[in-house]
Amino acid sequence: MGQVCYSVAMKKNEEYTLECTGLSDQGYGIGHIGGMTVFAANLLPGEKARVRIIKPASRYAIARVMERFSDSPIRTEPRCPYAAQCGGCSFQHVKYEDQLLWKHQQLDHLFSVLDPAPEVLPVLGMEDPYYYRNKAQFPIQVRDGKIISGFYRPRTNTIVDVEDCAIQSERINEVYRWIRANLPVSVAEDLRHLFIRDSEKRHQMQVVFIGRWNPRLEGFVRRLVKVFPEIVSVVFNENLRDDNVILGEKYRVLYGSDSLEEDCLGLTISLHFKSFFQVNPAQMEVLYSTALKMADLKKTDRVVELYSGTGTIGLLASRQAAEVTGVEIVPEAVENARENARINHIRNAQFVCQDASDFAAGFHGQADVLIVDPPRKGLSAQGIENIVRIHPERLVYISCNPRTLQRDLQLLQKDGYLCSRIQPVDMFSHTSGIECIALLHPCSACGQTEKPERSAQKEEQ
Ligand code: SAH
Repeated sequence: MGQVCYSVAMKKNEEYTLECTGLSDQGYGIGHIGGMTVFAANLLPGEKARVRIIKPASRYAIARVMERFSDSPIRTEPRCPYAAQCGGCSFQHVKYEDQLLWKHQQLDHLFSVLDPAPEVLPVLGMEDPYYYRNKAQFPIQVRDGKIISGFYRPRTNTIVDVEDCAIQSERINEVYRWIRANLPVSVAEDLRHLFIRDSEKRHQMQVVFIGRWNPRLEGFVRRLVKVFPEIVSVVFNENLRDDNVILGEKYRVLYGSDSLEEDCLGLTISLHFKSFFQVNPAQMEVLYSTALKMADLKKTDRVVELYSGTGTIGLLASRQAAEVTGVEIVPEAVENARENARINHIRNAQFVCQDASDFAAGFHGQADVLIVDPPRKGLSAQGIENIVRIHPERLVYISCNPRTLQRDLQLLQKDGYLCSRIQPVDMFSHTSGIECIALLHPCSACGQTEKPERSAQKEEQ
């Protein structure tokens, strides 16, 4: 009763002393005032601060730190001057080795609900966790005749005006700064986003201007490519929608082509601007080589890869297996994957443009190894049923969202696939994001004496 009264009483702009006792999965410090849970950015467990309530809700409140009374031993000075306002990095104020330990703890806790719980291995971190990203999407606006661009402030549509980003590649920063300084305001008024991709290994860059067409963009692009000869692709992408989807359907190439060339473990990857590609190229190689090691591929293995994108994992797998079939829904990515097989002289990999779950439902071939790498929302319950019917000996699930992975591992276990090991890889240093590789086997291969009911029933039928 007392708790309810207290929570009702908490008002905007009131100040309190908050002691932080935990961290949310988004990196907010968590504390309790009376019965109320209070979240505050930039506050770490063990630290005390004077905070101001900025958003009181019925069951929790969000507060801003006004004055910190103590520093946690895991705190460090963020390298980026915008870290406190910008929504990009929620962990720059935490020492990198402690970020990795925290991510491990979160995962260990999350997957402990599985019975038996899988082994969660230590997170594979970066050697140098700055200036690593190969892709940026900067929102852009004109305010009072001046170009404002950077990143959205968390949970708002307000752009934090950013000149330089400590996790984007240095080349992306250079091109971005030049565009900000030289783009005519009349052109910027028609734009919503600026997309820049960088292939460090191939010295190629791509710029996509997103928004409403403005003919003055053409002259600007001629100047841009003269200053940066590594830019091999400039595209205008029309997007007149008023939601938060960044890319529109229609586009026209303003310079070069619609793709650039990337490299992954010696493989040439042609990459359309609409195709997905991992944003951390150094850790991508760690992720894929670790995933393939966990798949324990043999020369006789038939591999199916669902959610194959531009085919990178499948093409790497094809070097160690008999044959690979990749399945992907975006036509441009499938075209890239087929072209990538051709340019890398790979003849034992084919790519199908289809919904992954539909493909699995209609698949009548044999697959020894199944690799799935779905987007954040994970697999659907129907998708899992369809996948399990393929009956692979080994199932490697690559996931960028531990929550949907946990849910799917529980469903897969009900359907007879047990996860023994999870290898986290830090693809998103200084943010709360983490990528995981989960290895699953049919239950009998995991030494289970008793199979879960559903798979046992299936076998009896
Ligand atoms: N394995 C690839 C891509 C992983 S990202 C890589 O590592 O580069 C997830 C991919 O799933 C994206 O390419 C996305 O276009 C694709 N995708 C999303 N929904 C899908 C669906 N229902 N069926 C098949 N592919 C889908």
